[in-house]
Amino acid sequence: MLLNFTYDQLPGRVVFGPGKLDQLGAEVQRLGAERALVLCTPEQVGQAEAAAAQLGQRCAGLFPGAVMHVPVEVARAARDEARRLGADCAVAIGGGSTIGLGKAIALESGLPIIAVPTTYAGSEMTPIYGLTEAGIKKTGRDARVLPRVVIYDPLLTLSLPGRIGGPSGINAIAHCVEALYAQDANPIISLLAEDGIRALAGSLPQVMRQPDDVAARSQALYGAWLAGASLGAVGMALHHKLCHTLGGSFNLPHAETHTILLPHATAYNYAAAPEAMVRVARALGCQHAAQGLFDLAASIGAPLALKDIGMPETGLDRAADLAVQNPYYNPCPVTREGVRLLLDNAYHGRRPA
Ligand code: NAD
Repeated sequence: MLLNFTYDQLPGRVVFGPGKLDQLGAEVQRLGAERALVLCTPEQVGQAEAAAAQLGQRCAGLFPGAVMHVPVEVARAARDEARRLGADCAVAIGGGSTIGLGKAIALESGLPIIAVPTTYAGSEMTPIYGLTEAGIKKTGRDARVLPRVVIYDPLLTLSLPGRIGGPSGINAIAHCVEALYAQDANPIISLLAEDGIRALAGSLPQVMRQPDDVAARSQALYGAWLAGASLGAVGMALHHKLCHTLGGSFNLPHAETHTILLPHATAYNYAAAPEAMVRVARALGCQHAAQGLFDLAASIGAPLALKDIGMPETGLDRAADLAVQNPYYNPCPVTREGVRLLLDNAYHGRRPA
C-alpha cells in the first residue's frame, strides 16, 4: 500500500489507572496553578467533592451546574464564577457535558483544563467544543479547549449505570469506526481506532454483567481514550453528521442516538470503505462489521430503534432533508434516498442485511 498522509499530533498528558484521582493535586501543582474551580453535574457532586478534597488548599470552589449540550447561559455563569473566585485552572469531572463546560471556560479565558472523564464519550481528547444558544448547537475547533491533562481513573466509572455506560461505550466505538474511513485517515490513528474498538467491544458485555469488575472497567476506559484520540485527530463523516442533526433537531439523547445509527451508517459505507470494514470486523471478532455492531448493541441491552428513544416517524423526511443540506465528505456519496432508507431501518431497529 502506498502511504500518503498528513498527521497533526495533539499535545496532552494522560494519567491512567485505578485510584489516579489521588494524583489530581499534584497535577494541578505541576501546571503551576493554585486555585482550581471544580466543575460537575448536579448528579456528580459526590465525585466532585472527592476531587475537591484531593485538592485541599488548591480548590477555589465547586460549580455543580453542568448540563447536556452546554447552554450559553450556563457557560456564562461558570465563566463568571471562575472570574469571581480568581480561578487559575478548571477541573472538569464527569462526562462530555461537564468537560464541554470546561471547554467553554477555556475558550474565552484560556484557563488550563484538567479533565477527569467518567463516561466513554471522549471529549477530553479533542479540541472540539459545542455551545447551544436558543436551541441551536454550534460546534468549533480551538486548540485552547484541549485539556492539558486527562486523568482516567476507572474507579470513577464504577457508578456509571449500564443504561448510560453501554450507549456511551458504543458512542466511543462510533468515533473509531469513522476514524478508520476518515478523509484524512492516517496509519497511527487507524491503529488506535482499531484497538479502541477491540478494547471496548471486549469489555462492555462484562461491564454490563459485572459492573464492579475493575479490570473490565479499565479496558473500557482505555478503549474510550483511544476513541477520543481518534475523534480529536481526524474528521468524521455521515454517522456523526446524522447524529448531530437528529440530536439537535429532535432533541434525542446523544449516546443512544449514536448507538442506534452506527450499524446503519456502517452498512451505508460498507462497500465504499472495504479496508475499514475488515478492521472493524477483526476488532469485533465477527464476519460483518455492520451486523457485528448491531449484535454488540443488542447483547448489552442498548436501544436499537429510533422509535424507542422519542424519534417521531413523521420527522424522518425532515431529518433526511437536513442531512443532505450541506455537502460533506463520506466514503459513499450521500443521497437523500439513501439516507431516508438508512433512517427507516434505524427507526424500526432492523438488523443490517
Ligand atoms: P453526559 O456528560 O451528559 O452524562 C450523562 C449523565 O451521566 C449525567 O447525568 C452525568 O452526571 C452522569 N454520569 C457521568 N458519569 C457518571 C458516573 N461515572 N457515575 C454516575 N453518573 C455519571 O453524557 P456523555 O455521553 O458523556 O456526554 C454527552 C455530551 O458530550 C454531548 O453533549 C456531546 O455532544 C458531547 N461530546 C462532545 C465531544 C467533543 O469532542 N466535543 C465528544 C463526545 C461527546
